[in-house]
Amino acid sequence: MKIYDAVVAGGGLIGASIALELASAGLKVAVFDPQKPGREASWASAGMISASPESAAMASLLPTSLASVRLYPEFIQRTEELSGKSVGYRKDGALDIVLTQEEQGGIAEVLAQHRAAGLRAELLTNQQACELEPSLNPELRTAMHRPDEASLDNRIFTEATLEAARRKGVEIFSGNGAMALWSEGHTCKGLQLETGRVEARWTVIAAGCFSARIEGAVSYAPVVPAKGQMIALRCDAVRLRHDLWSGHMYLVPRNDGRIIAGSTVEYEGFDRGVTAAGMKKILTGAISLVPALEKARIEETWAGLRPDSPDHLPILGPTDREGLLIATGHFRSGILLAPITARLICEWVTTQKVSVDWAPFSPMRFQKMSQTRGA
Ligand SMILES: Cc1cc2nc3c(=O)[nH]c(=O)nc-3n(C[C@H](O)[C@H](O)[C@H](O)COP(=O)(O)OP(=O)(O)OC[C@H]3O[C@@H](n4cnc5c(N)ncnc54)[C@H](O)[C@@H]3O)c2cc1C
Repeated sequence: MKIYDAVVAGGGLIGASIALELASAGLKVAVFDPQKPGREASWASAGMISASPESAAMASLLPTSLASVRLYPEFIQRTEELSGKSVGYRKDGALDIVLTQEEQGGIAEVLAQHRAAGLRAELLTNQQACELEPSLNPELRTAMHRPDEASLDNRIFTEATLEAARRKGVEIFSGNGAMALWSEGHTCKGLQLETGRVEARWTVIAAGCFSARIEGAVSYAPVVPAKGQMIALRCDAVRLRHDLWSGHMYLVPRNDGRIIAGSTVEYEGFDRGVTAAGMKKILTGAISLVPALEKARIEETWAGLRPDSPDHLPILGPTDREGLLIATGHFRSGILLAPITARLICEWVTTQKVSVDWAPFSPMRFQKMSQTRGA
């Protein structure tokens, strides 16, 4: 049996980023995945790198999100250099569009929240917004400009990160997933794979929404799939520069001219089906933001499964089993949080200290929750 310094269950963007970071620090690393890695949520995503908190409850994520945004340029440069792939990084900012009078009431509060959090944001008039983005619905009421938002092509980026990890010596095994944790007493010795055991000083569970299916992992990673449906549009008459938001709907332009429109959040188990209702919701939102998209061609539709935790926050860090680390539950922010997740896991493995407080995301918090509920 081969022995590694670290084994990672899951070859999505999170597992790949962790593997790359650990291998760059000189560790001998292997990644195990039951299928071709990088074909789940990291493939399905919209690829936005946005630290903007989606709700007040997500505010505790802000320092970690900002730390990840700061790491991104160097992380991309390293990934592109090692893999030879360009990942379609765009740093053109985002516009939150207010279309109705009801929504207009809340925008001042959202602006204040952003400024209080130290995020750059400013309100634009209808005319200013349409000058910045000429295809916008001319009937919009107001818009909030968030100039520091970015995006990338998450499919290429995940491939590139896997390739970069390979170039750094990471062994990536597809068709060989983790069935269970391999524990002896309070120590995690490695993984029980489909093909046998693999031993390592460190075991990282990064299998996205599938993490809870790995026997022994559910109490640390009680994640569930949150389905998101998506549409890729192409329209010669529309060239967007910014990511556009309206409520929970968004449009994300890609360098190849496609416009990615999303999304839904549905709790329907592991079903990845695309539905008429989902498509209707996304297309209605897209056309109300940019009316010319009525003529757009639908190039592709798909759905992916976000890894969601009971409090919608990521699950990161060590457990009460020696050597066992968890890195999942990134929900709607796994692209954003990949560089900081990799950095923190690597810092812990190499120094047992972390540069950003990850206590709020501890995998042990769910055990506390269930003990409190039981009391
Ligand atoms: C529609 C949609 C839009 C999104 N938009 C954004 C966005 O704009 N910005 C953003 O930051 N985030 C976004 N997200 C969220 C983001 O994509 C996820 O949080 C992130 O991709 C999770 O990465 P992951 O590596 O943890 O999981 P995944 O990418 O799902 O990878 C998990 C991997 O684990 C493997 N696996 C499964 N079972 C096992 C097993 N037993 N053993 C080992 N491996 C296993 C799978 O095959 C897969 O390769 C979006 C997600 C969706 C679905």
